[in-house]
Amino acid sequence: MQIETFKNYLDAHNLDYEQQVSLKEYTTLHIGGNATFFCAPRSKEEVKMLIQQAKACDIPYFILGNGSNVLVSDDGYDGIIIYLKKHMHQIWHENQKVFAQAGAMLWDVCEYAYNQVLTGLEFAYGIPASVGGATFMNAGAYGGELKDVLATCITVDEDGNFHEYTNEEMEFAYRHSRLSGTPEIVLEISIQLETGKADTIRARMDELWEKRQSKQPLDKPSAGSTFKRPVGGYASALIDEAGLKGFVLKRAMVSDKHAGFVVNHDGATYEEFIELIEHIKKTVKEHSGICLEEEVRILK
Ligand SMILES: Cc1cc2nc3c(=O)[nH]c(=O)nc-3n(C[C@H](O)[C@H](O)[C@H](O)COP(=O)(O)OP(=O)(O)OC[C@H]3O[C@@H](n4cnc5c(N)ncnc54)[C@H](O)[C@@H]3O)c2cc1C
Repeated sequence: MQIETFKNYLDAHNLDYEQQVSLKEYTTLHIGGNATFFCAPRSKEEVKMLIQQAKACDIPYFILGNGSNVLVSDDGYDGIIIYLKKHMHQIWHENQKVFAQAGAMLWDVCEYAYNQVLTGLEFAYGIPASVGGATFMNAGAYGGELKDVLATCITVDEDGNFHEYTNEEMEFAYRHSRLSGTPEIVLEISIQLETGKADTIRARMDELWEKRQSKQPLDKPSAGSTFKRPVGGYASALIDEAGLKGFVLKRAMVSDKHAGFVVNHDGATYEEFIELIEHIKKTVKEHSGICLEEEVRILK
């Protein structure tokens, strides 16, 4: 890794970056060590410059959204975090189509759509995702998914080529898109909505927000549902049936409000969190025969 060469490049091109940034502050779990570089590009071109230079300097990079589905090792990340939330969060519209940069928060896009009296995105209100993270994961809730509304997605690949995909080309499936397992970065999306009624849109958004508050442990640091929904069941029900609701292992805990959420109970370390995840998987397998698979992305 050519750390000095990369740093010189950032300085020479006036790119926005910091070194040794604690990722604990940038994830909803509040777990994790430092990133070697933390870069906040201002434009698509700057994202392209960063990934091309990262490649030239042989330094790995990771694109961080709102950090609401990421568990970072306490040893941190010896590479480059690319963070779009700081500068790339514009939202605009043309007729019934809403456009958003990847660093915009999904709930801000929902509020924007509401202000334009556009319906279709209410299901997403309350998911603590950036637009990029939500698109990458095909985030969804209460019967809706990004795949239901996304019209186009602009990305940049690891060689610096820009792409524009249609909905079909995104290959969306449950918590999956064509970007899963690739280093391709979402830069911007467009969402096709319909004209609705302001009162109805607001009422649905408020209803879903209240549902979240009553059902989810929003007062505790978490990454949402820790496990994917297995075929033919719900992870939370399986964990509950295995007797693990409220189970505490060191400073990590299975929420006593929603067994699908593993929460950072009291300053848990990465190792403690992983230990609890493994314990849950083993216990659920023994109890029901079903293998749970992590939804949370692990960065180390
Ligand atoms: C309290 C709580 C409730 C939640 N409820 C829901 C829910 O109802 N439904 C749901 O689906 N999820 C839910 N989640 C999980 C989480 O919000 C989603 O998985 C979300 O899509 C992650 O978005 P993010 O911006 O935080 O991405 P991050 O957590 O930062 O990253 C997740 C993955 O996306 C990738 N990524 C991020 N930005 C980009 C980009 N621009 N281009 C390419 N890849 C990118 C990252 O590299 C990483 O692999 C919840 C989480 C919490 C904490």
